[in-house]
Amino acid sequence: KQRDPHQPEFHQAVEEVVRSLWPFLEANPHYLQAGILERMVEPERAIMFRVPWVDDQGQVRVNRGYRIQMNSAIGPYKGGLRFHPSVNVGVLKFLAFEQVFKNSLTSLPMGGGKGGSDFNPKGKSDNEVMRFCQSFMTELYRHIGADLDVPAGDIGVGGREIGFLFGQYKRLSNQFTSVLTGKGLAYGGSLIRPEATGYGCVYFAEEMLKSVRSSFEGKRVSISGSGNVAQYAAQKVMEMGGRVISLSDSAGTLHFPDGLTEEQWAYLMDLKNVRRGRLEEMGAHFGVTYLADQRPWSLPCDIALPCATQNELDGEDARTLLKNGCICVAEGANMPSTLEAVDLFIEAGILYAPGKASNAGGVACSGLEMSQNAMRLHWTAGEVDTKLHSIMQSIHHACVAYGEEDGRVNYVKGANIAGFVKVADAMLAQGVV
Ligand code: NDP
Repeated sequence: KQRDPHQPEFHQAVEEVVRSLWPFLEANPHYLQAGILERMVEPERAIMFRVPWVDDQGQVRVNRGYRIQMNSAIGPYKGGLRFHPSVNVGVLKFLAFEQVFKNSLTSLPMGGGKGGSDFNPKGKSDNEVMRFCQSFMTELYRHIGADLDVPAGDIGVGGREIGFLFGQYKRLSNQFTSVLTGKGLAYGGSLIRPEATGYGCVYFAEEMLKSVRSSFEGKRVSISGSGNVAQYAAQKVMEMGGRVISLSDSAGTLHFPDGLTEEQWAYLMDLKNVRRGRLEEMGAHFGVTYLADQRPWSLPCDIALPCATQNELDGEDARTLLKNGCICVAEGANMPSTLEAVDLFIEAGILYAPGKASNAGGVACSGLEMSQNAMRLHWTAGEVDTKLHSIMQSIHHACVAYGEEDGRVNYVKGANIAGFVKVADAMLAQGVV
């Protein structure tokens, strides 16, 4: 904290991991003696660069670009790019740190990284977004590669942005390589990648529910966010017989007391991915209650899936969810719950999955995209979905194996220890580097 006083999100992510790892480290002191923790909290490399571009009015704009290459002990750096005004070094270090554990949990050979820019794609034309992406990649391309660092999407970076970034990389390097994931189907993307994080989160929650002989059937499910993760989490919940009672964006929450319908879901997909509109418009279109400036957590629900952003569910929200009888929280977003909220869920003994376990489906599927690219072939949607499902089950299994505590599973402890061991053992084997 003394070295980087202005990085609260990074400190929060490290504190959550170290607190739950500590008894394990004391029982296995060779990790501490080798300075593994000190090394894991320091990025192997942090790159920061100027991104100049010209807007539609001919005005020069300058944003800041970053790539944090956190840990390559078990494979090339892997992790998304985020374009959002809140992006800074501390936010990206938190995301990259989480990514190291998450990628390890998938059992695929991927190190951890994260990057992005404080560029805000909202309200920008397609041409402006393209010019920005081209400028961003003009610097980033020298730091990434199929065997070095393979970025993907995250908040503000979807199929459109990945396409522009890939086009510029190919032009600069004169190579068609698997340097980004989340690509379009026509140029090397994998089926199920857009769905993977949301589906994976619901598969993970299903495993947790099964462990207490429950399921999604007939449950009220509160979802936050309305972007990539929220959209496909909602679809899978509906498929499993649950009732999606909310969606949200940074301006407010839509409440669906009887559950989101197929027709409303199709409207959402067009609104967010094609027309790039706001949820308020959807409320007006269907006559659904729109709660301006509110988050979904005050609505009574059985299951909560926070799928928007970090620290969107605080202690007060956690108390409300518990009071209303919520039995399961599975995070689709990265670190959506504050430390206080996490403690309250664990104390209450409900099923609580941290993002690094329950949202690992996205990066797992990105790993499968890299495999398909390397083999120069395509798996069917069914094949990828089956692999995704089995990876989520095996992450659940690993959490149970390391997280059992007084007859219950502490998924935070389980995910942190299971993710840590593989990376730490690889670092030990590779010497002090
Ligand atoms: P999108 O950009 O597609 O959607 C983000 C959603 O979150 C939007 O509804 C957005 O609302 C909302 N949101 C963003 N910032 C805020 C904020 N400060 N306050 C309230 N709401 C906000 O991103 P994704 O769906 O891809 O990502 C969502 C979360 O999932 C992130 O935490 C991301 O790191 C995590 N994640 C994503 C993966 C993926 O494969 N996409 C993989 C693993 C984790 P608005 O439109 O108003 O900004």
